Amino acid sequence: MDYEVLRKRMVEEQLIPRGIKNKKVIDAFYKVERHKFIPEDLRASAYADFPVPILEGQTISQPYIVALMTECLELTGQEKVLEIGTGSGYQAAILAELTKEVYSIERFESLSKNTQEILKGLGYSNIKIKVGDGTLGWPEFAPFDRIIVTAATPKVPLPLTEQLKESGKLVLPLGESFSQVLTVIEKKKDGFESIEICGCVFVPLVGKYGWQDKNA
Ligand code: SAH
Repeated sequence: MDYEVLRKRMVEEQLIPRGIKNKKVIDAFYKVERHKFIPEDLRASAYADFPVPILEGQTISQPYIVALMTECLELTGQEKVLEIGTGSGYQAAILAELTKEVYSIERFESLSKNTQEILKGLGYSNIKIKVGDGTLGWPEFAPFDRIIVTAATPKVPLPLTEQLKESGKLVLPLGESFSQVLTVIEKKKDGFESIEICGCVFVPLVGKYGWQDKNA
């Protein structure tokens, strides 16, 4: 399979026509080898226009959603970014192409170990990963310029708003189990401003400040 051709097609048929404009974001999607983040038996679907299953019953998000969330972060290259939900590591790799420092938290240890191997193999040295409940944030490295939550939550986890810098942005899917609204929250001097981007569907964010259900 010619993954480079599939990757080019993904950018030109799924991202650009739907309005992804940021040149650096587009270049990152041309570059990062999405198939390497996907179990071998599912690689034929690596560049398809839908989420693909990974380990532990989780999914790698649809390429367009990864691009849209990345664009919403408005990265200049200097930011310290926290990602909640490392999953396959694909979003983390895209972020690592676009900014200086990426911190990413995953709740499943086996998934995280596998992903760390992949990212190491690809040579990323600006991604720091830990296993734990990401709804608590990562206080040791706070504050962050940007925070991206790649799992669905009924409410904004309080520690994340506390660990966001002033003028910082938090991008997350907010809503019910099977349907959420992709939301961008900006931390202002005197409060928070929130913008709704579009409907979306993510796996649940399970943790102290997300969904409580341990079986989710
Ligand atoms: N960004 C990922 C998307 C993975 S799906 C990618 O590019 O592939 C969302 C991930 O969030 C899952 O792996 C899930 O296990 C993880 N997750 C759910 N709740 C979490 C929590 N409280 N803390 C950290 N990770 C969590």
